[in-house]
Amino acid sequence: MLQVITSIEDIKQRIKTFKEDQLSIGFVPTMGALHEGHLSLVRQAKEENDKVVVSIFVNPLQFGVGEDFTQYPRTFDDDCKLLSKEDVDVVFNPKAPEMYPDGFCTSVVLEHLEDRLCGKSRPGHFRGVATIVLKLFNLINPDIAYFGQKDFQQTVIIKRVVADLNLGVNIKALPTIREKEGLALSSRNGYLSETEKKDALCLYKALIRVQEMANAGVKNAREILGEMEKIINNCKSARIDYISIVNPETLEAVSEVQHGDVAALAVRIGKTRLIDNIILMVLIAFFILLA
Ligand code: AMP
Repeated sequence: MLQVITSIEDIKQRIKTFKEDQLSIGFVPTMGALHEGHLSLVRQAKEENDKVVVSIFVNPLQFGVGEDFTQYPRTFDDDCKLLSKEDVDVVFNPKAPEMYPDGFCTSVVLEHLEDRLCGKSRPGHFRGVATIVLKLFNLINPDIAYFGQKDFQQTVIIKRVVADLNLGVNIKALPTIREKEGLALSSRNGYLSETEKKDALCLYKALIRVQEMANAGVKNAREILGEMEKIINNCKSARIDYISIVNPETLEAVSEVQHGDVAALAVRIGKTRLIDNIILMVLIAFFILLA
């Protein structure tokens, strides 16, 4: 049965009992308003661990001034119903004042990585993400933590934090779950009107085009980005925040596309900022020379 835990003391106690019983712990950090994307992580966690802990915490530290912190959907009761159905063991739902008491002033800073892609238009965002994830890892002490590729930069940053700070948590990044037409599921999709939802398909269309171009042997990033831009600008309500093709580890923009590079974009549809990405498969031709 799903156990709801809201205090730091209680989650520490619960985790202590799991550890004493030598049970492995899978952890899925979320901000709630759960959808099939989150549930895909939960299901994988269930398959691979003895116990599964999901956190639901709308983390104030990762929202900038003028962003949607107060507006962000909070659907805790419905979320718990979904987690119960998935047979999750614990949902950790702390309150902000307990996570960030008066005087709190420590944060995790990632040179370079946090200023690229989304970090440019959301200064401080990834510092907030890295800090809360580290705090949650310290409390939950998971064996494996599950993240979505949908937030690609987040997965890169968390892997970096884990490696740099020797955290010993196995990080798994799982594929993006999409609606039938291709729109990546997101708790923020609820902000979109019906027309905007249709317009939002331009993100996916642009990413599909990148893969098509890569399949056709186009390697020049500028040429590919030009095509993406055209597709997105074709849609009236869309305003590009960034589009980029980057190295999957450094997040630096590439000029020649290689297998495994990531095409990433952030686009405003009306007032809603959406992100998406694709990991590029670039076909490599093998020539077998017969002697
Ligand atoms: P959030 O609640 O938005 O912070 O997301 C919690 C976790 O769910 C993050 O690791 C996200 O990357 C992941 N996630 C969000 N949307 C999707 C999706 N459409 N498919 C797969 N994972 C997702």
